[in-house]
Amino acid sequence: MTSIPSPENGDEATELALDDPPASAGDPDADQIGLLWNGLDELITRLDTTEDSLAATLDTLSADVDGLKTQLALLLKKEQEKDIRPRRWADRATRKDWGVLVDWVDRLTTDYSLLSDFTVPPCWPAHPGVVEELAGLHRSWTRTMIIDETAKNSGDTSLTAWHDRWLWPALTRMKSGHYRTTNCRTKHQPENSNSRFTDRDFLRSIPGEAVSGV
Ligand SMILES: [Zn+2]
Repeated sequence: MTSIPSPENGDEATELALDDPPASAGDPDADQIGLLWNGLDELITRLDTTEDSLAATLDTLSADVDGLKTQLALLLKKEQEKDIRPRRWADRATRKDWGVLVDWVDRLTTDYSLLSDFTVPPCWPAHPGVVEELAGLHRSWTRTMIIDETAKNSGDTSLTAWHDRWLWPALTRMKSGHYRTTNCRTKHQPENSNSRFTDRDFLRSIPGEAVSGV
């Protein structure tokens, strides 16, 4: 209940409730005070209503600002990515990146209970395709471990999915003749380039602007 000091007692401690305006008893001054009292009561009620309305508006504004922040972050990310020229991992990796990858591959080969057929040959840095494969595998492992660490007791399937979806298919590809490391089980065999480039003469039969600039 809102209360204010009694107008008759000035700053004295006695307080009157706004819900109980003073009786006028035919006194003109008392009538005036009663009118003022009721007006003040109405004003306080309106202020309370305005406060609730402002709080609701602030909540809406806060949600709108959060939405704008999310959109802005996406736009900034797109803007930053716009100028990135796609390059293979090996072309942008630093010496430190290589060191991290080498350590991780060695741990995978020595500590992961792999049968020898599936271990990664020591010469893997000399085979560009295998480098990209392992760099991607390491990247997915890193992300998986972070997800699993943060999941803690809430449970998460990312770690199992990593083994099933990423680790074993990659190891199988590297073992089963997809890459030239298959020839390096006992000794490194240098890669002899047998690149066969696209025959661009066949593009002449493709209509339209799709092949312009080729
Ligand atoms: Zn090799």
